[in-house]
Amino acid sequence: MKNVLLLSLLTTALRFSAHAQTAPDLTDSTANYVVLKNATIIDAVSDTGKKGSILIKDEKIETVDYNNTLSSPKGATTYDFEGKYIIPGLIDAHVHITHGTLKEAQAHLNTALKKGITGVRDMGGDGRMLTLLQKNMKIGEDIGPDVFFSTIIAGPEFFEQDPRPQQVAKGAIAGEVSWLRAITDESDLRQIVAEAKGIGATAIKVYLNVDKDLFKQVSDEAKNQGLKVWSHAVVPPTKAIDITNGGSDVMSHAGHLVQYEFVKGDIRGRHSFESREEVKAYRKKLSDKKWDENTKEVKELFTAMKNNNSILDATLFIYTFGLDPKVEDNVDSTSYHLGMKAVKTAYQYQVKIGAGSDEMISEDGTINLHKELELLTIAGLSNIDALRAATIVNAEGLGEEKNMGTIEAQKLANLVILNSNPLEDISNTQDIKYVFKRGKVIE
Ligand SMILES: [Zn+2]
Repeated sequence: MKNVLLLSLLTTALRFSAHAQTAPDLTDSTANYVVLKNATIIDAVSDTGKKGSILIKDEKIETVDYNNTLSSPKGATTYDFEGKYIIPGLIDAHVHITHGTLKEAQAHLNTALKKGITGVRDMGGDGRMLTLLQKNMKIGEDIGPDVFFSTIIAGPEFFEQDPRPQQVAKGAIAGEVSWLRAITDESDLRQIVAEAKGIGATAIKVYLNVDKDLFKQVSDEAKNQGLKVWSHAVVPPTKAIDITNGGSDVMSHAGHLVQYEFVKGDIRGRHSFESREEVKAYRKKLSDKKWDENTKEVKELFTAMKNNNSILDATLFIYTFGLDPKVEDNVDSTSYHLGMKAVKTAYQYQVKIGAGSDEMISEDGTINLHKELELLTIAGLSNIDALRAATIVNAEGLGEEKNMGTIEAQKLANLVILNSNPLEDISNTQDIKYVFKRGKVIE
């Protein structure tokens, strides 16, 4: 008993001294200090906002103070944000930014940053451009969100039959380069993953024509080398249940996610059909399958996704085709309704939901992640969970949860200052006063 008491005293003492050591050192004259005072801070850790102040030192948050005890360092730039709201910088978990020129990509990313997007997850593009953008955005040579990306691997049929990969392999051959690699059972997966890592990829995206066993092998090798595994929710011929059990960290597109679980045996990808009509008929049959949250297949799928910690990147926005989702009559799409239902059910099963637009910017310059957040709340997420989808959950999908996604000490100072409260109306994420990225205010 005595020992236990001693031990507890000792731990307390140690904790106090550890605390003293981590108290902010505000005397560094070479550092750049910024203080954001009097705002309501929605840190994405707590469910609500709290009045407080944030001290930024260079790129990072030094302290978040909710007790009014913060003393400003000498020479700090101070902003009084009375009446404003601060949320973590938003991350769009599903973009394709390199389908045009480099200049276009830079301009689009710049617009996105000004609209609150401080990080993007590119799901497949020109690896050469992505490597450059990643470096430039990180060091401030270009002004835009931090860029994270995957390379794409798929069965050889995909690269032979689909024109899209060649658009992002100009000057080379899609399927034979590090960012677009065709694989078979004979491929040297260790080499392929190492090459992806070499160009700065965060993940391997496994696309089409990869069976269950090969998916698992790729996934194991990627994780072995410290990369994430991203994929669509279904990767024909492989179903969602085998994708999550195969180790996918983020699974995209809620639309037909559940429907494919009712197919016996392998599922068919778009390239296995002779005509568009055949594809339509196949999908129609799939869509007609009725289910609810207690259906066996549904229960198995979402329980597995929760247990495997696979994130659902819903991309509801792509099912609205630019229509206003707030006007119910505007949307008449089977995929939209199925996607909504899948998200609602996944949320009930406590599957983590991420926020990705699959179209970062529209032609008129609209940044679509904000629409995705509205859609997630229509599907049933609380406003704070919709915010988490675009912040901490997406940070986890990137493996960046230690650096991004919440407002806490030692995370990057990626912050959006809002004029109105997003917990009252999620559309208020668009009511932006300022954006800070890596400690710098974006003009
Ligand atoms: Zn996509």
